[in-house]
Amino acid sequence: MTFAPAYLTLPTAHEVTTGDGKCVCGNYVMDDSSAAGPDGRLSNQMLAPEPRLSPDAGYSVCNDCGRVYVNDDLESGEPTSVVARYDLDSPDYLAARLIYVQHNL
Ligand SMILES: [Zn+2]
Repeated sequence: MTFAPAYLTLPTAHEVTTGDGKCVCGNYVMDDSSAAGPDGRLSNQMLAPEPRLSPDAGYSVCNDCGRVYVNDDLESGEPTSVVARYDLDSPDYLAARLIYVQHNL
């Protein structure tokens, strides 16, 4: 799966997790992340025809730092590569995240 960013990104340098469900930044990303679909957009952005894509079909975005992981890799328990890092302060991401929170809480 090749990741195509849907929002502004920050540079990353071949970062890999320790495989314990934590992001490179130390946040427990298994529980504290936003689900993104295969197109890289936060999954609530695709309300039709399905209400939500299965989170397993895509990516997890760390809510603390914006690093992006493949869900299947994250759940494997193995060291996992960061595929990208979203700029959490970019207007496009902030707008998408606001809608995401409204539809998922
Ligand atoms: Zn993080």
